[in-house]
Amino acid sequence: MERLNYREVTVKGILNPVHGEDDWFGLSYNMNLYRGCEHQCIYCDTRSACYQIENFDEEVLIKINALELLEDALPRKRKVGVIGFGSMNDPYTYAEDQYGLTGKALEIVAKYRFPVHIITKSDRVLKDLATLKRINQVKARVSFTITTTDDALAAKLEPGAPPPSRRLAAMAQLAEAGIEAGVVMMPILPFIEDSPENIESIVLAAAAHRAAYIIPSFGVTVREGQREHFYHKLDEQFPGVRQQYERAFGTSYFCPARNARQLERLFTDLCARHKIATRLSPYPPKPDAEQPPLF
Ligand code: SF4
Repeated sequence: MERLNYREVTVKGILNPVHGEDDWFGLSYNMNLYRGCEHQCIYCDTRSACYQIENFDEEVLIKINALELLEDALPRKRKVGVIGFGSMNDPYTYAEDQYGLTGKALEIVAKYRFPVHIITKSDRVLKDLATLKRINQVKARVSFTITTTDDALAAKLEPGAPPPSRRLAAMAQLAEAGIEAGVVMMPILPFIEDSPENIESIVLAAAAHRAAYIIPSFGVTVREGQREHFYHKLDEQFPGVRQQYERAFGTSYFCPARNARQLERLFTDLCARHKIATRLSPYPPKPDAEQPPLF
């Protein structure tokens, strides 16, 4: 996989408030230190025209003044809420080796005692374990996106990302260090990943690597801008599958897994059996609230 070009830019703001309740991850703020993503997943939603990110497959913008902005913004925030890393790009791609913005931003977050939730496909996150442990005095949570446990299939779908086997090993290491870690199981691509065997294999691998939770979605979202690239890659890697998408979904935004209900039942049963939660407990924990149901 060819590396992308890096271009340094200055930005006006870095910490975006999340408006309303974030039902998925309970975030209060969102932060993207890079723009563009070298993991180059063929299904990536960030290619959607609505985000207006040019040259997504060619360059990564490095927000070179991000740390300064964060250092200025955090002490002025009245609300201490969860800061999300990894909504529009992965915070741990090759660019992090060169610039280290994620690691340095986490140090600032630790200093001001904010909780974090990181979503990544990379075991590079382990380089920041010491900082995450400090943040975990408040709360640190790390989610690894796993859509298949098959490293060879993942190399076709997520060509710039470390294989799922390495993500799982990193998850176990974080859990061992006392950091809550789990799996974001999305997307599940119709016609490619929507088999009971794939779902079972993800849950079993998650259980074996100490996942506290798995957050699932049984399908994929596809929209203008993203669709063209995704279909082009389907033609290259999975001949005939694009035609199946076109017949089944037309231009629908959400493309559900085949047998989504059956897969969901299987998933729920397996998670129950292995004591894995299927949604995140809120932060801060509600004092008198009951423990969130596991399933
Ligand atoms: S890791 Fe996430 S942001 Fe990066 S290309 Fe893949 S789906 Fe897109």
